[in-house]
Amino acid sequence: MRASPLENAFLLEIDRLSVVYELKCVPSRAIENISFALRRGEAVALVGESGSGKTTTAMAITGLLSPNASICAGEIRYRGVRLPVESDAAMRPHRWRETSVVFQGAMNALNPVQRIVKQIAEPCMLRLGLPRKDAISRAKELLELVGIPPNRGAAYPHELSGGMRQRVMIAMALACHPSVIIGDEPTTALDVITQAQILRLLGELRKKLNLALILITHDLSVVAESCDRVMIMYAGRIVEEGNVPEVFAKPKHPYTQLLVESIPNPANGKRMIRPIPGDPPNLLNRPSGCAFHPRCPSAIEICAVEVPELDKCGQGRVACHLHDSSKH
Ligand code: SF4
Repeated sequence: MRASPLENAFLLEIDRLSVVYELKCVPSRAIENISFALRRGEAVALVGESGSGKTTTAMAITGLLSPNASICAGEIRYRGVRLPVESDAAMRPHRWRETSVVFQGAMNALNPVQRIVKQIAEPCMLRLGLPRKDAISRAKELLELVGIPPNRGAAYPHELSGGMRQRVMIAMALACHPSVIIGDEPTTALDVITQAQILRLLGELRKKLNLALILITHDLSVVAESCDRVMIMYAGRIVEEGNVPEVFAKPKHPYTQLLVESIPNPANGKRMIRPIPGDPPNLLNRPSGCAFHPRCPSAIEICAVEVPELDKCGQGRVACHLHDSSKH
């Protein structure tokens, strides 16, 4: 692959990306004009409610969009070179070797009738061209790396706990030495203790292997411990981006403020969850102007008319008319 002048700057760049779904023969924009970039070793969280576009973003990056979805604008670059994400076949040499995914619900993602060591060895044979014996050795090393004794490799997925199965998913994602791991709600189906263990494991592996991580979650509380930067998504757009401590301490977008307020904090006596009023928007009937305006407690007249741009604000970016100095 051609070396890029951006090689030392960004590992992965998502540049003005838009994805459209055909739903009941009606085109619906699932993500719109999304841009962000990731450096080696950096951890970025994509946070938002169901339908906000986070998983669509991950699937677009890996070229795994469903057949009724397509990229209608923008591009994705890895080390400065455009990825052929619109073609499943053209993406095969890139997927798992450069960018790989830890899916949620390992029980659905793993083959129930194949021993786990063989499942981990398979991408090593197919993508790295390792002979079977070497691939099995690599699979055992990977099991050890994620904290599973190699002799458990003979187990079938149903013989493992939910946490162990998620560790197997992480081992598979690491099999071909990728530089970017996407965790698509990797801890959603787990109890809180196992969730903390899996997040700790991902953090340790990230440091040890200098991986870049995109963590997709609807839960802001899992972001604080695991990520450097956070992007808040709403109705297919990024509405706020910033460093995790700053966004948690001083959220600027009204939606982020409500998300942060909805985290219970027993340490300061805040035990009650304050729900966000209203429902997420229907993408087939997106509200005019700022898509958050029907639920926003701070909405002003212009909000129902004009879509706010994602502009620089302090150290981060915000898409809200209240932070657009040209409107005041
Ligand atoms: Fe609320 Fe208006 Fe800002 Fe949207 S642009 S978040 S409706 S204040």
